[in-house]
Amino acid sequence: MVRGTNRHLMVYNDEMRSRETYSQRLLNDLRKAVERREFKVYYQPKFNIQCDPPRLDSAEALVRWQHPELGLIPPGDFIPLFERNGQIEIIDKYVWAEAARQIAVWKEKYGVTVPVSVNLSRIDMFDPKLEEILDGLVKENGLSGHALRLEVTESAYTENAEELLAVMARLRNKGYEIEMDDFGSGYSSLGALSSMPVDVLKMDRSFVMNIDNDEKDLRLVELILDIARNLRMPVIAEGVETESQLTLLKNAGCDFVQGYCFSRPLPPEEFEAFIARETES
Ligand code: C2E
Ligand code: CA
Ligand code: CA
Ligand code: CA
Repeated sequence: MVRGTNRHLMVYNDEMRSRETYSQRLLNDLRKAVERREFKVYYQPKFNIQCDPPRLDSAEALVRWQHPELGLIPPGDFIPLFERNGQIEIIDKYVWAEAARQIAVWKEKYGVTVPVSVNLSRIDMFDPKLEEILDGLVKENGLSGHALRLEVTESAYTENAEELLAVMARLRNKGYEIEMDDFGSGYSSLGALSSMPVDVLKMDRSFVMNIDNDEKDLRLVELILDIARNLRMPVIAEGVETESQLTLLKNAGCDFVQGYCFSRPLPPEEFEAFIARETES
Protein backbone atom coordinates (compact mmCIF):
# COMPACT_ATOMS: atom_id res chain seq x y z
CA MET A 1 0.00 0.00 0.00
CA VAL A 2 2.57 2.51 1.15
CA ARG A 3 4.93 1.56 -1.60
CA GLY A 4 2.19 1.94 -4.17
CA THR A 5 1.34 5.39 -2.88
CA ASN A 6 4.97 6.41 -2.96
CA ARG A 7 5.39 5.18 -6.44
CA HIS A 8 2.33 7.10 -7.51
CA LEU A 9 3.65 10.24 -5.88
CA MET A 10 7.00 9.82 -7.54
CA VAL A 11 5.54 9.44 -10.99
CA TYR A 12 3.41 12.49 -10.43
CA ASN A 13 6.43 14.50 -9.36
CA ASP A 14 8.49 13.42 -12.33
CA GLU A 15 5.68 14.40 -14.60
CA MET A 16 5.38 17.76 -12.92
CA ARG A 17 9.11 18.25 -13.11
CA SER A 18 9.26 17.47 -16.80
CA ARG A 19 6.35 19.74 -17.52
CA GLU A 20 8.15 22.47 -15.62
CA THR A 21 11.32 21.83 -17.61
CA TYR A 22 9.39 22.05 -20.87
CA SER A 23 7.71 25.33 -19.84
CA GLN A 24 11.01 26.70 -18.56
CA ARG A 25 12.63 25.79 -21.83
CA LEU A 26 9.95 27.62 -23.82
CA LEU A 27 10.23 30.67 -21.57
CA ASN A 28 14.01 30.71 -22.01
CA ASP A 29 13.83 30.32 -25.77
CA LEU A 30 11.32 33.13 -26.42
CA ARG A 31 13.77 35.95 -27.19
CA LYS A 32 15.84 33.85 -29.53
CA ALA A 33 12.70 32.59 -31.23
CA VAL A 34 11.54 36.12 -32.02
CA GLU A 35 14.96 37.07 -33.44
CA ARG A 36 15.12 33.91 -35.51
CA ARG A 37 11.54 34.32 -36.72
CA GLU A 38 10.48 30.91 -35.47
CA PHE A 39 6.87 31.93 -34.95
CA LYS A 40 4.75 31.03 -37.96
CA VAL A 41 1.29 32.33 -38.67
CA TYR A 42 -1.20 29.83 -40.05
CA TYR A 43 -4.56 30.77 -41.55
CA GLN A 44 -7.86 28.97 -41.18
CA PRO A 45 -10.69 29.91 -43.54
CA LYS A 46 -14.12 31.05 -42.39
CA PHE A 47 -16.88 30.30 -44.84
CA ASN A 48 -20.24 31.93 -45.43
CA ILE A 49 -22.46 28.85 -45.49
CA GLN A 50 -25.66 30.62 -46.49
CA CYS A 51 -24.18 30.95 -49.99
CA ASP A 52 -24.42 28.01 -52.35
CA PRO A 53 -21.71 26.85 -52.72
CA PRO A 54 -20.26 28.25 -49.47
CA ARG A 55 -18.01 31.27 -50.04
CA LEU A 56 -14.70 32.17 -48.47
CA ASP A 57 -15.38 35.06 -46.11
CA SER A 58 -12.17 35.64 -44.20
CA ALA A 59 -9.47 33.88 -42.18
CA GLU A 60 -8.26 33.56 -38.61
CA ALA A 61 -4.54 33.94 -37.92
CA LEU A 62 -3.27 31.24 -35.55
CA VAL A 63 0.31 31.14 -34.34
CA ARG A 64 2.66 28.11 -34.23
CA TRP A 65 6.21 27.88 -33.02
CA GLN A 66 8.62 26.18 -35.38
CA HIS A 67 11.20 25.24 -32.77
CA PRO A 68 14.58 24.07 -34.12
CA GLU A 69 14.75 21.15 -31.67
CA LEU A 70 11.21 20.60 -30.39
CA GLY A 71 9.44 20.76 -33.75
CA LEU A 72 6.15 22.50 -34.50
CA ILE A 73 4.68 23.55 -31.15
CA PRO A 74 0.92 24.24 -30.92
CA PRO A 75 -0.20 27.52 -29.31
CA GLY A 76 -1.86 25.67 -26.43
CA ASP A 77 1.62 24.82 -25.15
CA PHE A 78 2.96 28.36 -25.01
CA ILE A 79 0.17 30.97 -25.22
CA PRO A 80 -1.18 30.36 -21.68
CA LEU A 81 2.41 30.26 -20.42
CA PHE A 82 3.30 33.64 -21.90
CA GLU A 83 -0.04 35.06 -20.84
CA ARG A 84 0.81 34.14 -17.26
CA ASN A 85 4.30 35.61 -17.33
CA GLY A 86 3.19 38.75 -19.18
CA GLN A 87 5.21 38.22 -22.35
CA ILE A 88 2.33 37.33 -24.64
CA GLU A 89 2.38 40.81 -26.14
CA ILE A 90 5.64 40.06 -27.96
CA ILE A 91 4.03 37.15 -29.80
CA ASP A 92 0.66 38.78 -30.38
CA LYS A 93 2.14 41.91 -31.87
CA TYR A 94 4.30 39.85 -34.17
CA VAL A 95 1.22 37.90 -35.33
CA TRP A 96 -0.82 41.07 -35.94
CA ALA A 97 1.99 42.59 -38.00
CA GLU A 98 2.39 39.42 -39.97
CA ALA A 99 -1.37 39.15 -40.60
CA ALA A 100 -1.63 42.78 -41.73
CA ARG A 101 1.28 42.29 -44.11
CA GLN A 102 -0.32 39.12 -45.46
CA ILE A 103 -3.61 40.89 -46.22
CA ALA A 104 -1.66 43.42 -48.31
CA VAL A 105 0.33 40.68 -50.09
CA TRP A 106 -2.84 38.82 -51.05
CA LYS A 107 -4.52 42.05 -52.13
CA GLU A 108 -1.60 42.75 -54.44
CA LYS A 109 -1.55 39.21 -55.81
CA TYR A 110 -5.28 38.47 -56.17
CA GLY A 111 -6.90 41.89 -56.24
CA VAL A 112 -9.19 41.06 -53.30
CA THR A 113 -9.10 41.84 -49.62
CA VAL A 114 -9.34 38.74 -47.47
CA PRO A 115 -10.07 40.03 -43.97
CA VAL A 116 -7.96 38.33 -41.29
CA SER A 117 -8.92 38.08 -37.63
CA VAL A 118 -6.20 38.14 -35.03
CA ASN A 119 -6.41 37.03 -31.41
CA LEU A 120 -6.05 39.56 -28.60
CA SER A 121 -5.14 38.49 -25.10
CA ARG A 122 -6.55 40.24 -22.10
CA ILE A 123 -3.24 42.01 -21.51
CA ASP A 124 -3.29 43.47 -25.02
CA MET A 125 -6.64 45.07 -24.35
CA PHE A 126 -5.18 47.11 -21.51
CA ASP A 127 -2.09 48.21 -23.39
CA PRO A 128 -2.29 52.01 -23.73
CA LYS A 129 -0.51 51.68 -27.09
CA LEU A 130 -3.02 49.21 -28.53
CA GLU A 131 -4.83 51.61 -30.84
CA GLU A 132 -1.63 53.23 -32.00
CA ILE A 133 -0.15 49.84 -32.91
CA LEU A 134 -3.21 48.63 -34.80
CA ASP A 135 -3.67 51.95 -36.60
CA GLY A 136 0.00 51.84 -37.55
CA LEU A 137 -0.34 48.39 -39.11
CA VAL A 138 -3.46 49.40 -41.00
CA LYS A 139 -1.74 52.51 -42.35
CA GLU A 140 1.60 50.89 -43.23
CA ASN A 141 -0.15 48.19 -45.21
CA GLY A 142 -2.74 50.41 -46.82
CA LEU A 143 -5.66 48.51 -45.30
CA SER A 144 -8.99 49.64 -43.98
CA GLY A 145 -9.63 48.86 -40.32
CA HIS A 146 -12.23 46.24 -40.97
CA ALA A 147 -9.74 44.10 -42.94
CA LEU A 148 -7.92 43.42 -39.69
CA ARG A 149 -10.55 41.95 -37.39
CA LEU A 150 -10.10 41.45 -33.68
CA GLU A 151 -11.03 38.37 -31.67
CA VAL A 152 -11.48 38.96 -27.97
CA THR A 153 -12.11 35.88 -25.89
CA GLU A 154 -15.18 35.78 -23.73
CA SER A 155 -13.21 35.05 -20.56
CA ALA A 156 -11.47 38.41 -21.00
CA TYR A 157 -14.68 40.09 -19.84
CA THR A 158 -14.64 38.82 -16.29
CA GLU A 159 -12.52 41.51 -14.58
CA ASN A 160 -12.44 45.26 -15.26
CA ALA A 161 -15.36 44.71 -17.57
CA GLU A 162 -16.18 48.42 -17.79
CA GLU A 163 -12.70 49.39 -18.86
CA LEU A 164 -12.53 46.57 -21.37
CA LEU A 165 -15.88 47.49 -22.89
CA ALA A 166 -14.67 51.06 -23.28
CA VAL A 167 -11.57 49.91 -25.17
CA MET A 168 -13.72 47.75 -27.43
CA ALA A 169 -16.13 50.57 -28.11
CA ARG A 170 -13.26 52.88 -29.08
CA LEU A 171 -11.76 50.30 -31.44
CA ARG A 172 -15.15 49.71 -32.97
CA ASN A 173 -15.70 53.40 -33.54
CA LYS A 174 -12.45 53.43 -35.47
CA GLY A 175 -13.80 50.76 -37.80
CA TYR A 176 -12.36 47.56 -36.38
CA GLU A 177 -14.74 44.62 -36.35
CA ILE A 178 -14.79 42.82 -33.04
CA GLU A 179 -15.57 39.15 -32.69
CA MET A 180 -16.46 37.68 -29.34
CA ASP A 181 -14.35 34.54 -29.25
CA ASP A 182 -15.31 31.30 -27.47
CA PHE A 183 -18.79 32.64 -26.78
CA GLY A 184 -20.57 30.44 -24.26
CA SER A 185 -17.41 29.04 -22.70
CA GLY A 186 -17.20 31.67 -19.97
CA TYR A 187 -19.63 33.27 -17.60
CA SER A 188 -20.89 36.33 -19.38
CA SER A 189 -24.65 36.28 -19.34
CA LEU A 190 -26.88 36.33 -22.35
CA GLY A 191 -28.39 39.47 -20.87
CA ALA A 192 -25.11 41.36 -21.19
CA LEU A 193 -24.84 40.50 -24.85
CA SER A 194 -27.16 43.20 -26.14
CA SER A 195 -24.98 45.95 -24.69
CA MET A 196 -21.62 44.48 -25.71
CA PRO A 197 -19.69 46.40 -28.35
CA VAL A 198 -19.17 43.33 -30.57
CA ASP A 199 -20.01 42.73 -34.22
CA VAL A 200 -19.90 38.96 -34.40
CA LEU A 201 -20.32 36.01 -32.04
CA LYS A 202 -17.99 33.07 -32.33
CA MET A 203 -19.92 30.20 -30.82
CA ASP A 204 -17.55 27.95 -28.89
CA ARG A 205 -16.73 24.52 -30.27
CA SER A 206 -18.15 22.86 -27.17
CA PHE A 207 -21.69 23.75 -28.31
CA VAL A 208 -21.21 22.42 -31.80
CA MET A 209 -19.31 19.22 -31.03
CA ASN A 210 -22.31 17.01 -30.35
CA ILE A 211 -25.17 18.58 -32.28
CA ASP A 212 -25.26 15.64 -34.69
CA ASN A 213 -25.91 13.11 -31.93
CA ASP A 214 -27.46 15.09 -29.08
CA GLU A 215 -30.88 16.63 -29.62
CA LYS A 216 -30.53 18.92 -26.60
CA ASP A 217 -27.27 20.36 -27.83
CA LEU A 218 -28.88 21.09 -31.16
CA ARG A 219 -31.79 22.89 -29.45
CA LEU A 220 -29.33 24.98 -27.46
CA VAL A 221 -27.45 25.99 -30.60
CA GLU A 222 -30.75 26.90 -32.28
CA LEU A 223 -31.62 29.05 -29.27
CA ILE A 224 -28.30 30.90 -29.39
CA LEU A 225 -28.76 31.49 -33.11
CA ASP A 226 -32.26 32.82 -32.46
CA ILE A 227 -31.07 35.27 -29.85
CA ALA A 228 -28.19 36.42 -32.04
CA ARG A 229 -30.58 36.91 -34.94
CA ASN A 230 -32.82 39.04 -32.78
CA LEU A 231 -29.81 41.13 -31.80
CA ARG A 232 -28.81 41.36 -35.49
CA MET A 233 -25.51 39.72 -34.64
CA PRO A 234 -23.95 37.29 -37.12
CA VAL A 235 -22.64 34.01 -35.71
CA ILE A 236 -19.56 32.01 -36.61
CA ALA A 237 -19.69 28.38 -35.47
CA GLU A 238 -16.23 27.18 -34.42
CA GLY A 239 -14.78 23.70 -34.64
CA VAL A 240 -17.25 22.30 -37.14
CA GLU A 241 -15.82 18.97 -38.20
CA THR A 242 -18.48 16.94 -39.99
CA GLU A 243 -20.77 17.36 -42.95
CA SER A 244 -23.82 16.62 -40.79
CA GLN A 245 -22.89 19.36 -38.28
CA LEU A 246 -22.52 21.72 -41.21
CA THR A 247 -25.97 20.86 -42.59
CA LEU A 248 -27.64 21.24 -39.19
CA LEU A 249 -26.01 24.64 -38.70
CA LYS A 250 -26.97 25.80 -42.15
CA ASN A 251 -30.60 24.78 -41.61
CA ALA A 252 -30.62 26.53 -38.23
CA GLY A 253 -29.61 29.76 -39.98
CA CYS A 254 -25.99 29.97 -38.87
CA ASP A 255 -24.11 32.41 -41.10
CA PHE A 256 -20.47 31.39 -40.89
CA VAL A 257 -18.48 28.26 -40.18
CA GLN A 258 -14.85 27.66 -39.30
CA GLY A 259 -13.57 24.14 -38.83
CA TYR A 260 -11.90 21.03 -40.12
CA CYS A 261 -14.95 20.32 -42.33
CA PHE A 262 -13.52 23.03 -44.60
CA SER A 263 -9.88 23.14 -43.60
CA ARG A 264 -7.34 23.00 -40.82
CA PRO A 265 -5.25 26.12 -40.26
CA LEU A 266 -2.74 26.29 -43.13
CA PRO A 267 0.54 28.02 -43.91
CA PRO A 268 -0.11 31.06 -46.14
CA GLU A 269 1.10 29.37 -49.35
CA GLU A 270 -1.47 26.62 -48.89
CA PHE A 271 -4.26 28.93 -47.80
CA GLU A 272 -3.90 30.74 -51.11
CA ALA A 273 -5.65 27.88 -52.89
CA PHE A 274 -8.91 29.10 -51.33
CA ILE A 275 -8.36 32.66 -52.57
CA ALA A 276 -7.37 31.45 -56.02
CA ARG A 277 -10.52 29.32 -56.26
CA GLU A 278 -12.69 32.22 -55.14
CA THR A 279 -11.21 34.69 -57.60
CA GLU A 280 -11.31 32.29 -60.57
CA SER A 281 -15.06 31.78 -60.52
P1 C2E B 1 -9.13 29.81 -30.67
O1 C2E B 1 -8.89 31.26 -30.84
O2 C2E B 1 -10.44 29.38 -30.14
O3 C2E B 1 -8.81 29.15 -32.08
C1 C2E B 1 -9.49 28.03 -32.58
C2 C2E B 1 -8.76 26.75 -32.30
O4 C2E B 1 -9.56 25.66 -32.70
C3 C2E B 1 -7.45 26.61 -33.10
O5 C2E B 1 -6.55 25.87 -32.32
C4 C2E B 1 -7.90 25.79 -34.29
O6 C2E B 1 -6.86 25.08 -34.92
C5 C2E B 1 -8.87 24.86 -33.62
N1 C2E B 1 -9.85 24.30 -34.55
C6 C2E B 1 -10.34 24.86 -35.68
N2 C2E B 1 -11.24 24.08 -36.29
C7 C2E B 1 -11.33 22.97 -35.52
C8 C2E B 1 -12.11 21.76 -35.63
O7 C2E B 1 -12.91 21.56 -36.54
N3 C2E B 1 -11.95 20.84 -34.64
C9 C2E B 1 -11.08 21.03 -33.61
N4 C2E B 1 -10.98 20.06 -32.70
N5 C2E B 1 -10.33 22.15 -33.48
C10 C2E B 1 -10.45 23.11 -34.43
P2 C2E B 1 -5.02 26.29 -32.18
O8 C2E B 1 -4.52 26.86 -33.46
O9 C2E B 1 -4.31 25.16 -31.57
O10 C2E B 1 -5.11 27.50 -31.15
C11 C2E B 1 -5.54 27.28 -29.83
C12 C2E B 1 -5.76 28.58 -29.12
O11 C2E B 1 -4.53 29.30 -28.94
C13 C2E B 1 -6.66 29.55 -29.88
O12 C2E B 1 -8.00 29.19 -29.68
C14 C2E B 1 -6.31 30.86 -29.20
O13 C2E B 1 -6.98 30.99 -27.99
C15 C2E B 1 -4.83 30.68 -28.93
N6 C2E B 1 -4.06 31.37 -29.98
C16 C2E B 1 -3.66 30.94 -31.21
N7 C2E B 1 -2.94 31.89 -31.84
C17 C2E B 1 -2.89 32.97 -31.01
C18 C2E B 1 -2.28 34.27 -31.07
O14 C2E B 1 -1.63 34.68 -32.05
N8 C2E B 1 -2.46 35.07 -29.97
C19 C2E B 1 -3.17 34.67 -28.87
N9 C2E B 1 -3.28 35.53 -27.85
N10 C2E B 1 -3.74 33.48 -28.78
C20 C2E B 1 -3.60 32.63 -29.83
CA1 CA C 1 -9.75 32.97 -31.83
CA1 CA D 1 -12.37 30.37 -30.38
CA1 CA E 1 -10.88 28.35 -28.00
